[in-house]
Amino acid sequence: MQGSDFAGRLAAVAARARTADVDAVLVTPGPDLQYLVGYEAVPLERLTCLVVPAEDPAFLVVPRLELLAAQASPVTVLGLTLHPWTEGEDPYALVASHLPSAARVAVDDHMWASKVLHLRDAMPGVEQVLAGASIADLRMRKDPSEVEALLRAGAAIDRVHALVPSILGAGRTERDVGADISAAILEAGHVRVDFVIVASGPNGASPHHEVSDRVIEKGDVVVVDIGGTMPDGYRSDCTRTYVVGDPPEGFASAFAALMEAQAAAVAHAAPGVSCESVDAAARDILTSAGLGDHFIHRTGHGIGLETHEDPYIVSGNALTLEPGMAFSIEPGFYVEGRYGARIEDIVITSVDGLVVANRQPRDLVVIP
Ligand code: ZN
Ligand code: ZN
Ligand code: ZN
Repeated sequence: MQGSDFAGRLAAVAARARTADVDAVLVTPGPDLQYLVGYEAVPLERLTCLVVPAEDPAFLVVPRLELLAAQASPVTVLGLTLHPWTEGEDPYALVASHLPSAARVAVDDHMWASKVLHLRDAMPGVEQVLAGASIADLRMRKDPSEVEALLRAGAAIDRVHALVPSILGAGRTERDVGADISAAILEAGHVRVDFVIVASGPNGASPHHEVSDRVIEKGDVVVVDIGGTMPDGYRSDCTRTYVVGDPPEGFASAFAALMEAQAAAVAHAAPGVSCESVDAAARDILTSAGLGDHFIHRTGHGIGLETHEDPYIVSGNALTLEPGMAFSIEPGFYVEGRYGARIEDIVITSVDGLVVANRQPRDLVVIP
């Protein structure tokens, strides 16, 4: 990321603030702060707050003890003014003192409620609105460097799935398998493990099951959904379905329908089509196969500096896909007491169609 990219993002937020009749946008540590100025501050109780006024240059209020960390981030090349505060000072009053004529401010969606309320007390009479939608609107349109970052993340998690057959097997617990997968996620180039789902047998019926002490047995279907954060902050997220030995009765034909549904949604997704039509492309096939009632979640979610962000691939979302949107396509089916299955790839719309970030085969992986 170049300083100029961040400057462009700050300018875009200020422009949106003017359109929305907001005097300033206030952003505390989290993905929005990282996106706007590249500062990956830890969200703690002391106030760190980026203030993007509609008309004036942006500035950063930062605890004195975190000044060096802030200066080491791109905020320095951006030339942002830093306003450090020392223990005992009121940082909320400091923010307010720099916005003397504000009537309306937007706060980012990740701001802690305690900070929102302290800001309200420090600026009585100033209306607070949410900044989330307008920042999300910028974040869901990825620039070429972000697309590259997501492709690198996809390749990294592919390397982990390639290792899963050597890790997963009958006689091991989900937790042991999960621990080895976590190590492989870091080994593959991520700096953080975000989640490891190893959902064997009946546990597979719960889409967000993580790991348990259940011992994997012959005949288990195992859903492995894993993701991590790369050094640049961008995330991976990929699901493959494995079976130890022979699949349970009836599973193979259902899985064939799932592969068809996932491929149909990938084939359909492109600039100009709606998010909900991508969901329908997968859902219609599973419904025809009699699995509609077992497909209990949306088809996908956007991904970037967060694992779940806009755009959501869900019925009711009429948003039209544009080049540079990155999201998962992850239909599944879940049968209580028996098993679950899911296939998930991250895809990115481009001017010529679609780029698929995950390349590992999508077939049911049989582990002897
Ligand atoms: Zn999920
Ligand atoms: Zn996933
Ligand atoms: Zn996902």
